[in-house]
Amino acid sequence: MRLRHIRGAEEAIAESPYVVQEPEAYRGRFQELFGNGNPIRIEVGMGKGRFLMEHARQNPAVNYIGIERYSSVLLRALQKLEEGKLPNIYFMRTDAKDLAGIFAPEEVERIYLNFSDPWPKDRHAKRRLTSPEFMRVYDQILAKDGVLEFKTDNRELFVWSLMSIPQAGWQIRAYTEDLHHSDMADGNVMTEYEEKFSAMGNPICKLVAAR
Ligand code: SAM
Repeated sequence: MRLRHIRGAEEAIAESPYVVQEPEAYRGRFQELFGNGNPIRIEVGMGKGRFLMEHARQNPAVNYIGIERYSSVLLRALQKLEEGKLPNIYFMRTDAKDLAGIFAPEEVERIYLNFSDPWPKDRHAKRRLTSPEFMRVYDQILAKDGVLEFKTDNRELFVWSLMSIPQAGWQIRAYTEDLHHSDMADGNVMTEYEEKFSAMGNPICKLVAAR
């Protein structure tokens, strides 16, 4: 994701009704924010948010929260949401490492990681969103029977994740190294990165993990 400062991004985010401004204040009561008792699913590193917005459109009885750490990227998601407003989606500008202070234990029903930054150098492995360190964060907020779904076209990151996720005490419930030609493709919603990389001919990998 290209990062550059966009003038006015901070102000637009601070004023947006779709951004949870003080997420810690909702810890344990995010359903009140939505005004219903529906389950909450989050995408960590949502980018421009198309995947989550399409899910929100298709599933009005599910609440969605998109997590993104960069204002310039979050602004793009907000602009897209303005084109077609949805009652069951909010965004947060937050780093994934802080999620356990934002959501209460078991408050999240499903976690999506899509095309997470690969951080190819070994010394940066802890920054990968499928590292044991991040899996321990997700462990603190995900419902007991909840699942984490991860998609990427980066085979090295995928193969590494098939090892790093079990290292944190999780189980890989299902996986494919060619999602679009597998029986896991049913109901697949493409992300921005997925469209781009699959158009280039890259196979898409997907895994589903649970504890
Ligand atoms: N999920 C989108 C997709 O598939 O089109 C965007 C993928 S993009 C490669 C990864 C996104 O994750 C970037 O927008 C980046 O800023 C965000 N990100 C990376 N590390 C993060 C972290 N620790 N916390 C929150 N967001 C993060």
